[in-house]
Amino acid sequence: MSDCCSVPSDSADPRARAEMAFTVVAPDQSAAADDCCSTNGGETSTAAAPQAATVQHCPVCGKRGKKVDTQTVKAMLSVSLEEIRPVGYRFCRTEACTVVYFAEDGSQVFGETALREQVHQKHLDAEDVFVCYCFRHTPGTIREEIMITGESTAVARINAGIKAGQCACEVRNPQGSCCLGNVTATVKRVQAALEPMAAD
Ligand SMILES: [Zn+2]
Repeated sequence: MSDCCSVPSDSADPRARAEMAFTVVAPDQSAAADDCCSTNGGETSTAAAPQAATVQHCPVCGKRGKKVDTQTVKAMLSVSLEEIRPVGYRFCRTEACTVVYFAEDGSQVFGETALREQVHQKHLDAEDVFVCYCFRHTPGTIREEIMITGESTAVARINAGIKAGQCACEVRNPQGSCCLGNVTATVKRVQAALEPMAAD
């Protein structure tokens, strides 16, 4: 089998390996796996294979992932933690990308269905997906408050909760860090969407 593709085998393009290993993310890879020597067309797909062991970019969307503590991945996964490996993990925040976490060795990805929570970054304006996981604010609750009172107290309440030591972003929020930036952005989006209605 080894002399089939006598490409000087660096053997592991981590991006290719990740895609092959996880058919959930790349459902149409089965055909590609068969044409072992794809010299048809002379296209060598060695698109910038990183030599470094640390994969910083999402194997599916190619955007740089944010490093997360393994504790966060453990807290968020709904699958057996036997899946957890002694590698670093990163969070993909690209809205249209199916990947939530990927391993820094490029060999493993977890999509949203492997998590206990829906992920704000993948559903920015969904009414019922948390933007603040500790104090349970959603775009829907934020919008409701603004419609009733004309303003949002979400940021102030989150700040008060942080001061009181009540937050647990590292185990509650899929991004593993404070949600305040996301909440501020959500409040602005909700206000902007409501303004044309108020002007009538
Ligand atoms: Zn991605």
